[in-house]
Amino acid sequence: MDYTKQIREIATKLFTEEKIDVFVGYRTTGFDENQVPVIITGLEEIPKLIFNDKSVFNLTNYLKQEHTRNKRVGLIVKGCDSRSLNLLLTENQVKREKLFVIGIACEGVCDDEGNKMQHCTECMFPDAVVFDEMVGTTHDARLYQVNADVRELASKSLVERREYFETVFESCIRCNACRHSCPLCYCAKCVIDQETSTLYHGANTTSSAFHALMTWSLHLAGRCVDCRNCESACPMNLPLHLLHKQNESVIYENFQEHMAGVVEGDRGAFYKYSMKDPDDFIM
Ligand code: SF4
Ligand code: SF4
Ligand code: SF4
Repeated sequence: MDYTKQIREIATKLFTEEKIDVFVGYRTTGFDENQVPVIITGLEEIPKLIFNDKSVFNLTNYLKQEHTRNKRVGLIVKGCDSRSLNLLLTENQVKREKLFVIGIACEGVCDDEGNKMQHCTECMFPDAVVFDEMVGTTHDARLYQVNADVRELASKSLVERREYFETVFESCIRCNACRHSCPLCYCAKCVIDQETSTLYHGANTTSSAFHALMTWSLHLAGRCVDCRNCESACPMNLPLHLLHKQNESVIYENFQEHMAGVVEGDRGAFYKYSMKDPDDFIM
């Protein structure tokens, strides 16, 4: 997958026709083949733009930043990224008329070793669900599959699962990189902030870190689009997808096969009510 030529052509057209003020894309780090997000402001910077299977990050996270706010923005979205864009639109965080969206029919992105990332092997919606111009060849519909790690966890008892999670998340340093890198975390004051939270007394203990992450994942339940920005940002390489994918599978099963951000205007699983919903968990 290499759409660099197409992306540069579209960005050139947008700047030439004065349809955008900034363009959010990818550039190489400058010292290896990995990429970082870049915000360019004019034609002279177009040669920086690149798009291939190393274009990992979800760029919609940059729509909540000062340098794009109230500007006309050109933006690249893969399938997963477009679902978070849908949610940001539905939750009134961005204005559609300010955006020109290049949708990607995505073939999957790769990790540092060049292997296709796990979430791409399970991806149900590789094609952008919201776009102005589509690049690439679209795919046939795919079936939902429970994440392989979540399936394995399900075979453990509740006690074993709790022990597993507490052990895995013990090394969390409460840096909040996961939260800052998530496009769907935009509250000005966050309930899990170590400095301000009264819930955790600012303590950096296993128990407080574990509960902070649990709370965070519940605020994303039914909203997480599995882009893995959070996991890529985590300096401790923690498997944060275990929390989000567990929530996703429970919600898919119990809330009418809900998948976050697929349908424009869909406010999420907790806004859907059906008399057929299972209610055996209600006390
Ligand atoms: S999860 Fe899907 S849309 Fe997102 S990068 Fe992977 S294959 Fe592409
Ligand atoms: S929680 Fe992580 S995987 Fe889910 S939308 Fe946010 S950054 Fe993406
Ligand atoms: S990025 Fe990783 S280490 Fe930092 S708070 Fe999140 S889970 Fe913890």
